[in-house]
Amino acid sequence: MSFPPTPLVRFLEDEGLRATVEAGLRKVASELGRSEHDFAAAAFVSFEAWTVRPSRATTRFGSISTRTRILRLTTLDCSEATRRDTILHEVAHIVMSELVSKSERHGPRWKTLARALGARPSGRGVDPRFREASAALRADREQIVARCERCGVEIKRLRRSTRDWRRYAHRGCGGRFVSTA
Ligand SMILES: [Zn+2]
Ligand SMILES: [Zn+2]
Repeated sequence: MSFPPTPLVRFLEDEGLRATVEAGLRKVASELGRSEHDFAAAAFVSFEAWTVRPSRATTRFGSISTRTRILRLTTLDCSEATRRDTILHEVAHIVMSELVSKSERHGPRWKTLARALGARPSGRGVDPRFREASAALRADREQIVARCERCGVEIKRLRRSTRDWRRYAHRGCGGRFVSTA
């Protein structure tokens, strides 16, 4: 499901996650050596610079760029739980990079924060709906680059092929390939 680029704070409000994030930040502040109120307030000030953009990546649900301050979220089909988990997971990365440490990745403090926000503190999960949608999208992006002259079997690739396919025989039937792209 696609969406227009949206400021992060408004995005959290639209998703009904603003209160969840605020409460999580207040809860975890002292564990990270911060004052309860200031930590949540500072996080929301830093969120002002962030935008959420749709992503058609086929290998992950979400990602952030600390350089451009963009959170990318998949538009491919996935479960509500995965969507919510992904948003909170990426928000935990944003809070870490803005207020705690730029190099934390999935370290112990990030895990503490992710757990407090209600995200699974593990790496990426598995979502059958997303897997199916991303496989369909990848198949859709593939093009036929060569075809066996004898049996018609097709070779598909995500990118254009510069290979001279005539030099290759199809193992299955011994026929020659011809380039189609
Ligand atoms: Zn992560
Ligand atoms: Zn063949």
